[in-house]
Amino acid sequence: MPFKSRIKSDELKILSYLNTRMNLLEDDKQYLSNLKKGFEGEVMFDLLTEKLQCNCLVLNDLLLKVNNTTFQIDTLIIKDALHFFEVKNFQGDYYYEDNELYSNKSGNEVLNPLGQIQRGESLLRKLLHKHGFNFPITATVVFINPEFTLYQAPKNKPIIYPTQINGFMENFDRAPSKLNSRHRKLAELLVSLHITKSPFTQVPAYDYHLLKKGNTCSVCHSFSMIVEGRICRCLKCGHEELVEAAVLRSVEELRILFPGIKITTNIVREWCRVVESKKRIGRILDNNYKIVGVHQWAFYE
Ligand SMILES: [Zn+2]
Repeated sequence: MPFKSRIKSDELKILSYLNTRMNLLEDDKQYLSNLKKGFEGEVMFDLLTEKLQCNCLVLNDLLLKVNNTTFQIDTLIIKDALHFFEVKNFQGDYYYEDNELYSNKSGNEVLNPLGQIQRGESLLRKLLHKHGFNFPITATVVFINPEFTLYQAPKNKPIIYPTQINGFMENFDRAPSKLNSRHRKLAELLVSLHITKSPFTQVPAYDYHLLKKGNTCSVCHSFSMIVEGRICRCLKCGHEELVEAAVLRSVEELRILFPGIKITTNIVREWCRVVESKKRIGRILDNNYKIVGVHQWAFYE
């Protein structure tokens, strides 16, 4: 069990919802695809850190701030020292030249993860000092995708290549470690300092009235959903879901897209479309949320 789990960011959720409910610009689509890919890579690394048996605290996805500068840590493992990992899910051929990283396909320079970890490490050190902690820090870039190749790869840099990951994790797990109350205090501090609302979001403007309404399939995101008794069925991929679960999922979607929106039976009916009966929606909301107010002024919390 990680000390702090990773969750999908609101930015990734919002862009995914918008992608099914409106036409995103190509740039936004590309940005969404990069976010998705990055998240999938981090989750792949989580599967490996979950297997660690050694005495350690794993903190996933920290967004921290020191001296007005915000920085992100994909994975921090507190053992005797602090181990900072930047996970990259790059796929395909890249090359390394003059301390920079380029994509073979486009020839374009990509953000150098070595620079990223240097900056992150230095900011983390500042943050620790500010709070009276002094632990050694190591920072490493992990290229997680098995289909990643780096030509002219530097030898003496803190990089774990795909073919080295398993060996690295085994060694890491075997290295002796002893945790004390300072380590735990630090983990608690970092979790308390974690910023939940990222200042870096790149979500385009959107309007409730211009978004396509209707329940979407949780697997293939199509709108081809029909209700059969207690089940919502996707005509495109065949996935089935309880009507109640599908409605609750839609309510969550509304809440994330429109924070502060008053959830009423009418708005949920309009948003879900496929569930016709107002009574049925009311019953589902009654069972899962607290009702505030009466009659036409009632909404759910
Ligand atoms: Zn489907």
